[in-house]
Amino acid sequence: MRTYLDHNATSPLRPEAKAAMLAAMDLTGNASSVHAEGRAARKVLDDAREAVAQAVGVIAPMVVFTGSGTEANNLAIKGAPIERIIVSAIEHPAILESARASGKPVQVIPVTAHGVLDLGALEDALPGPKALVSVMMANNETGVIQPIRDVVAMAQAFGALVHTDAVQALGKITVNFGLLGVDIMTLSAHKLGGPIGAGALIVRDGLALEPLLHGGGQELRRRAGTENLVGISGFGAVATRNMNAVKALRDKLESSLEAAVIFGAGADRLPNTTCFAVPGMNAETLLMSLDLEGIAVSSGSACSSGKVAKSHVLAAMGVAPEISKGALRVSLGWDTTSDHIEHFIAAWRKILARHKARAAA
Ligand code: PLP
Repeated sequence: MRTYLDHNATSPLRPEAKAAMLAAMDLTGNASSVHAEGRAARKVLDDAREAVAQAVGVIAPMVVFTGSGTEANNLAIKGAPIERIIVSAIEHPAILESARASGKPVQVIPVTAHGVLDLGALEDALPGPKALVSVMMANNETGVIQPIRDVVAMAQAFGALVHTDAVQALGKITVNFGLLGVDIMTLSAHKLGGPIGAGALIVRDGLALEPLLHGGGQELRRRAGTENLVGISGFGAVATRNMNAVKALRDKLESSLEAAVIFGAGADRLPNTTCFAVPGMNAETLLMSLDLEGIAVSSGSACSSGKVAKSHVLAAMGVAPEISKGALRVSLGWDTTSDHIEHFIAAWRKILARHKARAAA
């Protein structure tokens, strides 16, 4: 039996996404063509846009489809009409690296030991030239939820724009663009059971962004290139789906983690995520031991090279390197069952007992 508990990396494709994508594959038209085939493709695109808009409580023209969450983050950071960028220390590399690459001044705001943005430090950073403040809605490693409404209230007082990367939040907690009050928001389909390679940037009505890609007039001139109809149809099929009751399962899993430190446990967290370490245990070894037991999880920092790297998120929370090198992230999703959790708990106990026996020898 395999148990997949790495939904924050990517979630298995939901059946409804697969069905929508298979149907879209049979379409021939380019959504910009005026003939019947083109209009059929346009209808699929429009329906998906409507579904994504509904998922976050906006109107369809505010949705710009992109090729990924990474592209949407780059468009927000590089395209916003601002003079400088303020980011939290725990942003995804798609924010941190694009901010660095933008050529604009970048200020990094620390987080508390619980992994929550330091609002006092943000307030100190706000006076000055027009800024874009980019703070994620929930962190991909720890699941810690950020105080976006407070960020918006502070930023507005200084005329700053606010972007939130809501890639990990969609489908797990309520994400409402208007209630948050942000100007720009990033989404990605594959974290909630849609396909990899389909993202969206939600842009406040009337806010003009400089496009990253120049070419045709697609996406109301905000993102050139023929739309990826198949991927977008899969995104639309899952956009308004929420996860099943993962919190109870996650809490059960956490209660089995004796001797572990759970990062961000003192803050509001996503209901599906646990990031933890057992002092003295190494993440790479644990990851492999769990994999051999049939369980897929990530190291605390699931970096794109596939290697276990130091987590900048845990470092920002002040976690000592000798602890963070043992950090594992378990993330549940739409298809997680109590059998999966029982499987994890049994495997974990076995690995822990082996570790204790070795340490005592
Ligand atoms: N932002 C966050 C918080 C993420 O977790 C990820 C995915 O790892 C991304 C952005 C990037 O999204 P994508 O994989 O669609 O490029």
